[in-house]
Amino acid sequence: MPLIAIDGPAGSGKSTVARAVAGSLGLPYLDTGAMYRSVAWAALRAGVDLRDAAAVAAVAAALDIDVGDTVCVDGIDVTDAIRNQDVNTAVSIVSAHAEVRAELVKRQRDWAAGNGGSGVVEGRDIGSVVFPNATVKVFLIADETVRAARRGEEADIARRDRLDTRRAVSPLTKAEGAVEVDTTATAVDDVVARVLALVPE
Ligand code: C5P
Repeated sequence: MPLIAIDGPAGSGKSTVARAVAGSLGLPYLDTGAMYRSVAWAALRAGVDLRDAAAVAAVAAALDIDVGDTVCVDGIDVTDAIRNQDVNTAVSIVSAHAEVRAELVKRQRDWAAGNGGSGVVEGRDIGSVVFPNATVKVFLIADETVRAARRGEEADIARRDRLDTRRAVSPLTKAEGAVEVDTTATAVDDVVARVLALVPE
């Protein structure tokens, strides 16, 4: 059963494409951005200094994160809360900490192992770090104006991309062997078809 890694910057279409690919193949789907957002939400709530890697990692380690159709953190439905502006601002700071990434990468690998090693996983470092041996690796890109319009967070998206791309640990990058797909002017169905065509029989 395949493991499909879908990476790319914010607003490149990862979630839409990953969900559709997972639905079409009957595979489970994991949004790893929602995991980093959950940690950012919990760190803000706990009032810890976001730049204190050890403190944020301690928050992450103690957190029960359930990412599915809804996102629950320690039993609280945070599906909407993790998309708010405070979390948008905090998440790139939190996700730059190696200790935080180690905790979440472990959970992502456990998730796949629990599904027999298969699934559709989207994020920033899935093909490069989390599952370098994924069956299929896709790197979605799109023009910044289009990505900002999709997300409705014009000012923030460039800042988040910059932080995600320039951080020392697991920066956003096209993984070796990844197929790049530009979603700027391509219909979702066509992008999904291109990804599905990469999956071996
Ligand atoms: O995908 P989404 O935009 O919700 O991700 C939110 C943030 O989480 C990203 O801007 C990035 O800082 C972080 N992230 C990450 N690694 C992943 C997924 C998300 O660092 N695999």
